[in-house]
Amino acid sequence: MIEFPFQRKNFAVYCICLTTKTAEMKNVPSDEVVLIFVVHIPNILSSSSYLKNTKAKLLSLAYKMDKINKAVAFCWLRNDLRFHDNEVLLKANNNADNIIPVYCFDPRHFQRTYHFGFPKTGMHRAKFLRECVEDLRSTLRKKGSDLVVRFGKPEEILPGLLKSVPASSHFLVFQEEVTKEERDIQQELREWCKSAGIQIHTFWGSSLYHRTDLPFHIDKVPDTYTGFRKAVEAQSRVRNPLVMPEKLKPVPENIDPGELPTLDQLGVKGAALDKRTAFPFSGGETAGLGRVKQYLWDTNSIAQYKETRNGLLGEEYSTKFSPWLSLGCLSPRYIYSEIKKFEHIRVANQSTYWVIFEMIWRDYFRYVCMKYGDRVFYPSGIMGRKIQWKRNPQSFEMWKDGRTGVPFVDANMRELKETGWMSNRGRQNVASFLIKDLGLDWRLGAEWFESQLLDHDVCSNYGNWNYAAGIGNDPRENRKFNMIKQGLDYDPEGEFIRMWIPELNNIKSAMVHTPWKMSAFDQKEAGVILGDNYPNPIVIAPEWSRHDSKITSKSKKSRGGWTNPAKGPRQRDC
Ligand code: FAD
Repeated sequence: MIEFPFQRKNFAVYCICLTTKTAEMKNVPSDEVVLIFVVHIPNILSSSSYLKNTKAKLLSLAYKMDKINKAVAFCWLRNDLRFHDNEVLLKANNNADNIIPVYCFDPRHFQRTYHFGFPKTGMHRAKFLRECVEDLRSTLRKKGSDLVVRFGKPEEILPGLLKSVPASSHFLVFQEEVTKEERDIQQELREWCKSAGIQIHTFWGSSLYHRTDLPFHIDKVPDTYTGFRKAVEAQSRVRNPLVMPEKLKPVPENIDPGELPTLDQLGVKGAALDKRTAFPFSGGETAGLGRVKQYLWDTNSIAQYKETRNGLLGEEYSTKFSPWLSLGCLSPRYIYSEIKKFEHIRVANQSTYWVIFEMIWRDYFRYVCMKYGDRVFYPSGIMGRKIQWKRNPQSFEMWKDGRTGVPFVDANMRELKETGWMSNRGRQNVASFLIKDLGLDWRLGAEWFESQLLDHDVCSNYGNWNYAAGIGNDPRENRKFNMIKQGLDYDPEGEFIRMWIPELNNIKSAMVHTPWKMSAFDQKEAGVILGDNYPNPIVIAPEWSRHDSKITSKSKKSRGGWTNPAKGPRQRDC
């Protein structure tokens, strides 16, 4: 644990408030509240010279010094929008007289993505983010504190705030981030604080395994997930969540807490909740903690996670923790501790372990990004593989809008656009399709995901895209998903496809996966006119036809009520 004594620079002065009784013993009139200075700096005052003739002066001096002689900690909150298990708030609270939690809506987050100019924070995440900030403010107020909210660049807002609060010492406290844009801002603040003589204290709080508990130096993070997981599981341990105080130190008076900007002010259009959403996400720690309770304790869903996690429909197929994890509304250590409790009280099985297994993936991409730095953003990825990526704007538009003519891809892409959510199974498939079937630059996909995903997390997003593009940590070269096989395995009845592509609603059989194979007569019967109300496929991969017979047989069976193969043994990906 990092300890950081908050030193008060110019004073070695302690104020003691005497009880009436002590005051009487010391011959002080007892009808007043009395402050006595016990001074450890010679020549200013001595403890024996209290009161007597100068009582009034002392009282006024005491008042003034009380105002200045304070340590004030500014807690700059970014992707740690929670009260529970929050080291920034805890350490600041333990070491300062006042703490000022601050959140800055950074205008750069509402501009455009780096290469392709998509809205950097799309409407779903913007709404979710705003709710997170609102919820945190409400929690902090209940704890006797507040959340100061500003719209502006943190490296400009924070120095202004720091200068505006009188105190004997100021501290800036924040959780460290991993990737370039975030680190650049940290660095600017560090430099400013150094020149202004202000201390900075930083913490690590976004992963399951603490950075300093890793059994290797960051440079030596294994290049395969299995190597990483086995090492941390064997040689490290997950820390317990921190015990937080009941109350927090107050924000000094006279600080304007500020209004939360509206979505309009952030330049984002509001979006109504699409009823088809896999989960009615709402932002904030309160909702995140509620989801943990629901998924573990209320529904026991975690006990079936391994069997359901590849699902596409409904609330319970996976945890849905990721949007809250990405903004730090949920602490991974808290989730871990709840799972351990669940395993102790209810059941410990492969499924309960598998949620932890997946959360270790999240850690892995974080540490891989630390190891490789900006390479995760390069076209050649962390492995530095030079590949000629295409950028066909037309194909990309079709992919992003769910109009490729390949229903399994389109359904997933439309879900993303309408809700900000896509299952893990969907993400793997649409990424493979963009990269391996269309041959497009993987960064188009990564930036579109960055724009749209509710749970966008730089390391998980870019790490997974590197992996999908074969330039990251995938030990299997040339992994390519077969859209038809995947569709048949994970959406055998085509229910998911029909939900998101109403144009195909009347295709009742497994043919819904390959409408281009339908006869003109069948198309007409189903009200589908390819090239008119649903596109012709922009590509047909040769290997798709390997599954033709399954479609025909499933189509026949489906009329007679065929059984769900998703419950049968899973085939390997691809
Ligand atoms: P669950 O299946 O319930 O898993 C529990 C938790 O484990 C998740 O909440 C998540 O924190 C973690 N996790 C699971 N799978 C992965 C994974 N492959 N990589 C990293 N962490 C994982 N996840 C994000 O959080 N943010 C992203 O921006 C993101 N982008 C992705 C891009 C692509 C191309 C792909 C293939 C995957 C991406 N993922 C991303 C990973 C994964 O798809 C989501 O974490 C998962 O679908 C979230 O749903 P869940 O919370 O129900 O996950």
